[in-house]
Amino acid sequence: MKIICIGRNYADHAKELNNPVPERPVVFMKPASALLVNDKPLYYPEFTQDLQFEVEVVLKIGKNGRHIQPEFAAGYFEEVALGIDFTARDLQAQCKAKGHPWEIAKGFDGSAVLSPFVPKSRLHPQAIGFELRKNGEVVQSGNTRDMLFSFEDILGYVSRFFKLQMGDLIYTGTPAGVGPVAIGDVLEGYLHLREEVRRMFTCSIR
Ligand code: ZN
Repeated sequence: MKIICIGRNYADHAKELNNPVPERPVVFMKPASALLVNDKPLYYPEFTQDLQFEVEVVLKIGKNGRHIQPEFAAGYFEEVALGIDFTARDLQAQCKAKGHPWEIAKGFDGSAVLSPFVPKSRLHPQAIGFELRKNGEVVQSGNTRDMLFSFEDILGYVSRFFKLQMGDLIYTGTPAGVGPVAIGDVLEGYLHLREEVRRMFTCSIR
């Protein structure tokens, strides 16, 4: 199983980090060992002073595919979850400045929070609302209609390079509002289903 992540997929977030809006999806990966499920806490890693949250809609690949045409891409995922792409922003800045890969800043243990999945039929297909609350206050609020690259664009692009396999996860990028966490903080992710707003995960920082 692989975890594919899309960076800078919301213009307002690219802007807040002073990154240019990309012409093609920015793609990176996390190892399977990064997954943090079942509302387990994250222990603040000792190698960073600037641990930040990025709430993201996550797709689960339901069918193997390569060179997927965007018009058929919707048939390759049936389930959707909400997650956090935890980022050691200080390490990432150092990697970016040196032109180095940034896996150590984004793929560390526990960096991929993942909620349970819901069938995509429970969600509005083109406009999924979601939010992250920190200690009860909304810190990020997004809607997938604001993505620069749609789910279909992402699957089409990524599958040109990597065969997508059943069970692979795709983190589809974060909207504006990313920020730091401190020990003791509690993060909660909410997904707007057709019939209710559902809390999908809780993650406390220890
Ligand atoms: Zn991200």
